[in-house]
Amino acid sequence: MSWKFDGEQIVCAVPFCGSDLLVLQADSRYALGSGGRGLRHWMRQLPCCEDAYLGRLPDGRWQCGTCKCWYSASHSNSVLALTRSHDRIGVDVQFPCHRPAAMRWLAAVSGLQNATITHWAAAEAMLKASGRAGVRPQPGWAVLPEMFGAENEVQMGDGTTGEVVVTTVQGAILAVCRLCETVGASCPK
Ligand SMILES: [Zn+2]
Repeated sequence: MSWKFDGEQIVCAVPFCGSDLLVLQADSRYALGSGGRGLRHWMRQLPCCEDAYLGRLPDGRWQCGTCKCWYSASHSNSVLALTRSHDRIGVDVQFPCHRPAAMRWLAAVSGLQNATITHWAAAEAMLKASGRAGVRPQPGWAVLPEMFGAENEVQMGDGTTGEVVVTTVQGAILAVCRLCETVGASCPK
C-alpha cells in the first residue's frame, strides 16, 4: 500500500459490498466523535477526486462535495471502519453483547423470527445509508434476511433496494449496506 494512515494500524483495506472499506485498529484520535476526522484524513491521503472535500448533509450523512462520493464511518471499542462508494453507503461495527430487549424490539419492527447482533449491525448500516440514523424504525421499515449469506439483498420500506454484506473483524461484527439509486433495481455488481 503506497499511502499511510499516520501510524494507525490498518487491519484491512479492501473492496467490500461495492465500496472501499478501510478498517483501523484505533483507540485513536481518528475514532473520536462521528468519524469525520478519520474520513477527512483518508480523503487527504487517498482523495476520491481532485478538489475532494467532505461535506455533511442535514441527515448526518457524509459526502464529497465535488464528486458526490458517499462516505460512512463507525467506531466501536478498538475498531474504526471507514467506507466510501458512489452509491449511498452505511457502515456499522458492533461488538457482541447481550441485549435481549433490543433484539426483541428489532425482531418486532423488522418482522424477523430471531434478531441477532448481526441484524442490529445490518439495520444500523441500512439506516445510515438511507440517511435515517437516529430515526427510530417503525414496523415495516425494511425487509432483512433471517440469515446472512455472502451477499444479501435488502429492501427499505419505501421500496429502495440494496445489498448488505457482513463479516467479523477483530472480534466485532461489521456490516456495510449499499443502496441502489433506482427503486426496485438490483445493485449492479
Ligand atoms: Zn470526491
